[in-house]
Amino acid sequence: MYSLPWSRNVPVKASATNRLWRRCFSVTRAGASQLAGLDPSKLVITKTSTPQEPTAPKDLVFGKTFTDHMLSVEWSAANGWHAPQIVPYQNLSLDPATCVFHYAFECFEGMKAYKDSQGRIRLFRPEKNMERLNKSSSRIALPTVDGGALTKLIGELVKLDSKLVPDLRGYSLYLRPTMIGTQKTLGVGPPGSALLFVIASPVGPYYPTGFKAISLEATDYAVRAWPGGVGDKKLGANYAPCVVPQLHAASRGLQQNLWLFGEEEYVTEVGTMNLFIALKNKETGQKELVTAPLDGTILEGVTRDSVLGLARERLVPKGWAVHERKITMREVAEASEEGRLLEVFGSGTAAIVSPVRMISYKGKMVGCGLKESEEAGEIALQMKNWIEGIQYGDEDHPWR
Ligand SMILES: *Cc1c(COP(=O)(O)O)cnc(C)c1O
Repeated sequence: MYSLPWSRNVPVKASATNRLWRRCFSVTRAGASQLAGLDPSKLVITKTSTPQEPTAPKDLVFGKTFTDHMLSVEWSAANGWHAPQIVPYQNLSLDPATCVFHYAFECFEGMKAYKDSQGRIRLFRPEKNMERLNKSSSRIALPTVDGGALTKLIGELVKLDSKLVPDLRGYSLYLRPTMIGTQKTLGVGPPGSALLFVIASPVGPYYPTGFKAISLEATDYAVRAWPGGVGDKKLGANYAPCVVPQLHAASRGLQQNLWLFGEEEYVTEVGTMNLFIALKNKETGQKELVTAPLDGTILEGVTRDSVLGLARERLVPKGWAVHERKITMREVAEASEEGRLLEVFGSGTAAIVSPVRMISYKGKMVGCGLKESEEAGEIALQMKNWIEGIQYGDEDHPWR
């Protein structure tokens, strides 16, 4: 029996799946020492014969336009990682019985490459994405990968397609590393083969004409994730079930839904963003920036981590407190009623921060601290400028 050796909150070592494989399957045990790791020096590049012209920046639509090439690496349980390839962007050809189609052996990452003022291309904290990719893949019995090697290969893809990376501020190249199980079988078990691919999409700013605050519907009839579940992993299977509640919210004129958890109605996250709440402490009046803790029910956002890091570095000296703690929707609503709710914003790679104007909760609209004439609060604005400054290399920072 193939059993999972971890429980909630126990970090999974990057090589856990690889070791499990060796333990569980004698076929790989024999050749375990020969299992190949991902090796960038074996990269083979096949260039496209029909290079495209860059799309006019104003015509870029998120995730619709792709660059000329893709990175593709096969893996097999018997041999490990095969030689990486960069090939023209193309269709995949898979047998209809391939396990990814039936049991959702799929995980992914979302990250961006930015062109700085000198025309150099930068990645932002890619090691965080690599770490998260391995946590996701190992949870669904897919192989793990050397994050440094994959980052290097992504760098080669970006270099090859660099002409298609817009050099305007706010524009970037969205990168989508993806891993799928490719074994042809209807049996439920660990895939004996996998494909890792990376595609790239030039994207414009999330808010081309400046911030536009969104409003949320607090969803109380469905949950996204639960303790011991997989809501903290970027598994494709987590996303399709979120679309209907999203449509519900949209049908009531609200741009996103806010996921609550449990009878206490803890605030967790929004769509594909983590959530930050700035409020004044009821007793002391101290300003607090609060976000849900990493208890397994929220995604470990790289942007979330960056906002927390910058808040601790730059807001705490100004008297702020920064807390990763559980916060209930009732507490948020109460702060709003008492005029202590300063601002609320989502955080994620796509928008960096996304200010929230109102939350629909139990038939009432909870105001989130913005004046009618405002589209963003002070902290959201500051965070966007700080993070963008690092991403585009205006500020020297270890995260560049
Ligand atoms: C990707 C994602 C986020 C944001 O993560 P970043 O690394 O900041 O882009 C937040 N929540 C969910 C559910 C996500 O899928």
